[in-house]
Amino acid sequence: MTTLEAHNLIKQYHLRQGVRTRPLRAVDDVSFTLDPRRTVALVGQSGSGKSTIAKLLLQLERPTSGEILLDGKSVERRGAGLKRYRRTVQMVFQDPFASLNPFHTVEHHLQRPVRLHHPQLTKDEVHRRVLQLLERVRLTPAENVAARRPHELSGGQRQRVAIARALAPEPGILIADEPVSMLDVSIRLGVLNLLATLQREEDLGVLYITHDLATARHFSDEILVMYQGRIVERGTADDVILSPQHEYTKTLAAAAPNPERRIGELRR
Ligand code: ADP
Ligand code: MG
Repeated sequence: MTTLEAHNLIKQYHLRQGVRTRPLRAVDDVSFTLDPRRTVALVGQSGSGKSTIAKLLLQLERPTSGEILLDGKSVERRGAGLKRYRRTVQMVFQDPFASLNPFHTVEHHLQRPVRLHHPQLTKDEVHRRVLQLLERVRLTPAENVAARRPHELSGGQRQRVAIARALAPEPGILIADEPVSMLDVSIRLGVLNLLATLQREEDLGVLYITHDLATARHFSDEILVMYQGRIVERGTADDVILSPQHEYTKTLAAAAPNPERRIGELRR
């Protein structure tokens, strides 16, 4: 089981304006913890800094200051430590199509991470693992799905393949950046339910990044509301939505007045 902590993360970019540059704090003093079997929702409008946090957590960007701790230890920036980190902290992106190669089968997409993680496995064993991964994300019959290419799958199925790929290295942490916002409304709930099930079955700590307060409430234990790089409000999902304190959260909550009904609509 894995815990990931963000301590006072700051990410400052420098925007070019003619000959000058202007600093922009995309992430401004953000701290939180991802624990096993818990989902934290990071909610905020476009440009509030959510994806920058994802990039910092994935070590794709370096923080200007602040620290990331994996199981209480600060993260090495190279070598075996970084390799372990990259395996342990996995990502599901917004657009499953963009992250899959149209020329390769599902099997091909999943073999690579399986082999990387288990270099000693035979061809047959790798194949069996790929099928198991597909079953874990409820893509069955697995043999049939494994032979397909991305365009032969629906958007929801593609996102399930992307989730299977993220699971291949047996991660402890899953970062899902707007994982359903490009999917048809009718299939969003199925993918979010799958993430919730996997979180429990695989002891994952999940960061669910979204601009949708209704699904954040339904699928998370804790909500962090982001506004202009800062966490302006945080608490249990019900507390944040039923008694929002910050003006921005009130606006968000008012835009989704009845989460239960929204979820009901999504379910239909
Ligand atoms: P969100 O995911 O919430 O929509 P982002 O984290 O993508 O927000 O962006 C936060 C802010 O940081 C935005 O103002 C964006 O323009 C800026 N930003 C993000 N990446 C860069 C970058 N590489 N260089 C400069 N500014 C950036
Ligand atoms: Mg984003």
